[in-house]
Amino acid sequence: MDADVIIVGGGFVGLHTAYRLHKDGFRVVVVGGEAPRRGASWGNAGLIHQGSTTTVPEIMGFWRVVRLALRRGSYISSNPWVALRESLPGGWIWRYARLLKKEQLIERAALLSSLVRESKRLWLEIIRGEGLDAELLERGSIEAYFSEELFRLESRVVSEEASRLGYRVQVLDGEKCREMEPLLREGVAGGIYYLDDAWVNPSKTLNSFISALQRLGVKIMWERVRGVREEGDGVRVEAESGGLKAAHVVLAAGAWTRNLLRSIGAKIPLIAGRGYLAISEPVRERLARPLFYADEKIVVGQTADGNLRLTSYFELNNPDAPLDRSKIIQMVRKVKEALKLEGELRIIDEWVGSRPCIPDGLPVVGRVGGRGRVLVATGLCRLGLTLSPATAVLVEDIITGRENPLLQHFSPARFS
Ligand SMILES: Cc1cc2nc3c(=O)[nH]c(=O)nc-3n(C[C@H](O)[C@H](O)[C@H](O)COP(=O)(O)OP(=O)(O)OC[C@H]3O[C@@H](n4cnc5c(N)ncnc54)[C@H](O)[C@@H]3O)c2cc1C
Repeated sequence: MDADVIIVGGGFVGLHTAYRLHKDGFRVVVVGGEAPRRGASWGNAGLIHQGSTTTVPEIMGFWRVVRLALRRGSYISSNPWVALRESLPGGWIWRYARLLKKEQLIERAALLSSLVRESKRLWLEIIRGEGLDAELLERGSIEAYFSEELFRLESRVVSEEASRLGYRVQVLDGEKCREMEPLLREGVAGGIYYLDDAWVNPSKTLNSFISALQRLGVKIMWERVRGVREEGDGVRVEAESGGLKAAHVVLAAGAWTRNLLRSIGAKIPLIAGRGYLAISEPVRERLARPLFYADEKIVVGQTADGNLRLTSYFELNNPDAPLDRSKIIQMVRKVKEALKLEGELRIIDEWVGSRPCIPDGLPVVGRVGGRGRVLVATGLCRLGLTLSPATAVLVEDIITGRENPLLQHFSPARFS
């Protein structure tokens, strides 16, 4: 055996899993794919966030989501072929539409909220304990609304849900919102302040986490895995430089996990919900805290050096499709409309990445394949930075044989 556990995927789910299993004394190898920049973990918005666990994104209802996706320049879009394929019975969109029931959404929000609390605690422990260069900010986040109607609708839902889920939020009027974020232009209708949200610079955190794991002695290989095969008392992993064998394999390859599952005949409804990132040159102004421009669904964060990081969009597409530049241009224009920034917002880097999304909005963590030695850990969609530490604990529970009642909700068997 080359290792006790091989982890396929070098994003936050793979790295946190490697970290926990290494601490438990397992010999761990990570086969991370082509490069750290490829995964969603590299370019996300950086929010360790409670907001996306509420039902707010779903309150629009399925047909409003469809109408929005058909509108030009919308933050939701789909490659037409992907839309067609996934709308057929059994497809991702078909399943998503059937799962938008209020009671189920509330139940799922409660499950996710329990993971958020644990995850934030673990993030802070690892950032501090391993000395990660994460640029951690613990100042909460603000969702700002220019549309009065949207503000009224969403702030009511969030207030109700926050008290049910035990989140600390404050609903702000327009004046208070601008007082807390003076960079916002006039006309803000109001905001929602999430007091316990945190922010990290994702690419720095990822690189620093990789270095920390290597220092601890975890082997990380940057190459692709072509497939896995159960073999005797273990699992064989076909990597580009040759085969490797381990007692357990964890498939944590984000939006690409679906292809790898095929090699052992397993299937889950997983789709790439792609999001875009634009990084500006450092600006003179300083954001008070990360800001979610709610009308356009754009998150604006700022690095320690002053670069603005703009992230947005949900594009159903092949994870390897090229970046659509018009989306970057539009995002920059919209942010300039909402924020008072002097001078040009010059973009020095742009990126597109794939959120691994499951139609019921819950992670998929559990055993797949005939002999139970292959595990899958994915599906964190909009919440993968936030929830990756708690997801790694679930994988650890399976491998070490620890009982965890939460696991039944995340089992891949729920799709069979
Ligand atoms: C624009 C955007 C903004 C976001 N904002 C937030 C946010 O603010 N907060 C939050 O919590 N979440 C956010 N997310 C979601 C979050 O980034 C993802 O859910 C999370 O990064 C998923 O982590 P992962 O490890 O499952 O997958 P990834 O980070 O995608 O990692 C998958 C890994 O698998 C590797 N891989 C792929 N194929 C193979 C193969 N064949 N062999 C070996 N390795 C392979 C890839 O190279 C990569 O290393 C955002 C996502 C996007 C795109």
